[in-house]
Amino acid sequence: MGDKPNYKETMNLPQTEFPMRASLATREPEWLKFWDEIDIYGKSLEVNEGGPTFILHDGPPYANGHIHMGTAFNKVFKDLIVKYKTMRGYWSPYVPGWDCHGQPIEHQVEKNLGSKGMAETSKAELRALCRDYAMKFVGVQAEEFKRLGVRGDFDNPYLTLNSAYEAGNVRIFKEMYNRGMIHKGSKPIHWCMRCKTALAEAEIEYSDEVSDSIYVKFWFTETPEAFAGSAKKVGVLIWTTTPWTLPANVAVTLADRAAYVGVRIGDEVLVMAEELVESVIETAGIESYELVLGADGEPVRVKGSELSGLKYRQPIHENVEGVVITGDHVELSTGTGAVHTAPGHGDEDYLVGLKFNLPSPMPVLDNGVFDDGAGPFAGMHVNKANPVIVDWLTERGDMLHAGKTDHSYPHCWRCKQPVIFRATEQWFVNMDDAEDGRTALREGALNSIEKVEWIPSWSVNRIRSMVTDRPDWCISRQRAWGVPIPTFTCASCGDTVVSDDIFDAVIHLFETEGADAWFTKEPSEYLPAGTVCGRCGGAELKPEQNIVDVWWESGVSHTSVLEARDELRRPAELYLEGTDQHRGWFQSSLLTSVGAYDEPPFERVLTHGFIVDGDGRKMSKSVGNVVSPHDIIQKSGADIIRLWAAAADYSQDVSISDDILARTSDAYRRMRNTYRFLLSNLFDYTPEMAVDWAEMPEIDRYALVRLADVVERVTKSYDDWKFHQVYHTVFNYCVTDLSSFYLDVLKDRLYSDEVNSVSRRSAQTVLAEILKALVRIMAPILSFTTEEVWQFMPEALRGDAVSVHIAGWPDVEVPAAEAGELREAYATVLEVREAVTKALEDARNAKVVGKSQEAHVTITIQADVAHVLEARGLDALAEMFIVARVTLDIRKACTLCVSVAPAAGEKCPRCWNFREITDEGVCARCAGVLASQ
Ligand SMILES: [Zn+2]
Ligand SMILES: [Zn+2]
Ligand SMILES: [Zn+2]
Repeated sequence: MGDKPNYKETMNLPQTEFPMRASLATREPEWLKFWDEIDIYGKSLEVNEGGPTFILHDGPPYANGHIHMGTAFNKVFKDLIVKYKTMRGYWSPYVPGWDCHGQPIEHQVEKNLGSKGMAETSKAELRALCRDYAMKFVGVQAEEFKRLGVRGDFDNPYLTLNSAYEAGNVRIFKEMYNRGMIHKGSKPIHWCMRCKTALAEAEIEYSDEVSDSIYVKFWFTETPEAFAGSAKKVGVLIWTTTPWTLPANVAVTLADRAAYVGVRIGDEVLVMAEELVESVIETAGIESYELVLGADGEPVRVKGSELSGLKYRQPIHENVEGVVITGDHVELSTGTGAVHTAPGHGDEDYLVGLKFNLPSPMPVLDNGVFDDGAGPFAGMHVNKANPVIVDWLTERGDMLHAGKTDHSYPHCWRCKQPVIFRATEQWFVNMDDAEDGRTALREGALNSIEKVEWIPSWSVNRIRSMVTDRPDWCISRQRAWGVPIPTFTCASCGDTVVSDDIFDAVIHLFETEGADAWFTKEPSEYLPAGTVCGRCGGAELKPEQNIVDVWWESGVSHTSVLEARDELRRPAELYLEGTDQHRGWFQSSLLTSVGAYDEPPFERVLTHGFIVDGDGRKMSKSVGNVVSPHDIIQKSGADIIRLWAAAADYSQDVSISDDILARTSDAYRRMRNTYRFLLSNLFDYTPEMAVDWAEMPEIDRYALVRLADVVERVTKSYDDWKFHQVYHTVFNYCVTDLSSFYLDVLKDRLYSDEVNSVSRRSAQTVLAEILKALVRIMAPILSFTTEEVWQFMPEALRGDAVSVHIAGWPDVEVPAAEAGELREAYATVLEVREAVTKALEDARNAKVVGKSQEAHVTITIQADVAHVLEARGLDALAEMFIVARVTLDIRKACTLCVSVAPAAGEKCPRCWNFREITDEGVCARCAGVLASQ
């Protein structure tokens, strides 16, 4: 034996093919192929056939572009929930959907056609182009979602342009119409002059806009008694920011109880609220004025109510009079306290107009151009008319002051142009009018909100206040790309013609031929023979040309999808979208479901924040802070996006930046290394070698207790929808429990003990349990990596599951009583270990010892703690602290002191521990191992 023996070959060093480098960008597509081949979606349902149901109903993204970070986050989030539920034994089908109709697509197609192309394109042709456009992006997005690892029925998704889906719109319309919840009416609504359509509240964006700010004199045609004889001309002064609405003026509204005074400027007297006189004078830059005084020398004060009923000359139209009224909406913080009222152009004006039975002239056409009703301004676009009207009034001496103001103004979400309020014939869902004895929709929806679980819990306030405050829902749109309002108008008398038979015929038409048929067929071709107007008996019926609001369309998915598909059902267990959907999809789903069925479509609603950059700013191309999912996938892999999404506290806005992604990648590497360590030490292990609990070294039993605790905490976090807790628990477990403690301690046993020894097999028994649990609890999040780990696991540890995603959920059982004792004892041990680790570090820095294995550690400690340590055994402590020897020194006065000295003995050339070296040249343990070989 002249040569130095090669001890390396006598040791059980780790072996695995599982790559250290993740290379997710190239490996993930292979797993996608694998999942396709084994039909993982079909299998995920098969394994839980007959189990409890969990339906996460997908909110449809809009099919008009590539996915962005927000859609990626949302989809991954849904996917991890569905995967978790599947692993917990739930039958959890996931049917992805797309919102395919609506203005953004139509807008794009129009743009592509150009105005000349548009003129030559029929509605049916335009619809076909829109369909192609939508279908293209459904395909693009489906591939992008799949690349993120999202699992679902992508071969058979739901599309709002499918015939059966379109028919669902009519089913709900019929139900709500018959319940008196839908009516046709003229009402001022947000109107985009560029897109020529009504806009819902959800389609409005507010941004700053510079507008006119004018003070206009409306001359009384009969002078108020209080100011009689005060001047030749007496008028009421109004303030407005929309000169173009003056042609539609019919009234001036005053505050009932406020005091109004007469302000003499030159030879004119102008009536305004006393409180606002000073601010008006200042704004208008008037140098001298005086109040009209009474006989007592005091200013004459009149209440608004006393002026009610007076007439004035309409400012634009000759020989037309307007009337003074009073209303609650008059504010005394700005303006003059006298509000120019045009019921066709404002919500409050409309309501007060109804109350006083005022006319509601509407001189603005759908493209924003005045008709003859605007008198001298007919034919002019309202935007062009503003300065012209201002000049015109000034020339006539009716303008006290014309300035500009900067204020927040509603804009169209698509074309970004300022919108106007414009009264038109529209279809409305009534929020408050109920048929006899019936609960009105608003009240029904508010009741339903209380039956739903809202996550996070504060989000209930958001939806509640939105439903409480919302106006009637205008559901008609003057566009082509959508589902028509399923009603008819009588050609002879103009009455609306509907009936159950008519609705049913339309449902049948849409189901069999799709909504396109509405635009290509004559009503006589599909309506029941003999359908006539109920009012006049007219047989010629014209189909409605308006389409329904896209929010209505996606809202009826509870019927068109949940109700219609065999594998789904209504209500769904979960709707999950960004917080903006309290205004959009959550609300339209709720209103249509309560309207038709008196119940909510969902049992719970989870909302998440928006995706923002590292500084909390919204992502935008102009700022240049847009992070694309595609880039991250190419650079780091989809699992990094998935891990980032899981780690986020979604109750607030979710940040993403290079720094955040670097931290996520780092955490990923720690987890991947943990999997690799576990795999590499199980290369010669099979379940038959498992060591029983009772025969295990105590630290192994404690490791199982920790594992059981981690699995329990992780399971609870998933169940509580706190995915960032899952991430933190697993990350800390990998780093603190495993990497810096248990796995570090085990190395000696695993590598150096006899290959078949109970001590080594016991360690492997625990490692196998940890691996089996850790690979499963992270599968919903790290979908690709855990699949890779699964396929590298010894076959016997995998059971019969071909994929980790159908391998079920881990259940680590430990004897409860003993687990309690171990938790308590090891809390103390780990506290001492921390002190020892610190002392060893200091000793190494001071060159007292080299490696920790060379150290003899003396722990000075009080009796009660010493008792806990002694009970573990000094050898076990040495193993846990990875030192040569531990001595306990019990003293009353000392809480916890650690001293480190070089250990006696020599370094064993095989295991590098400091021990007595035997005649064989190695330590006694190693000598025994070598002898057995
Ligand atoms: Zn627009
Ligand atoms: Zn008729
Ligand atoms: Zn040794």
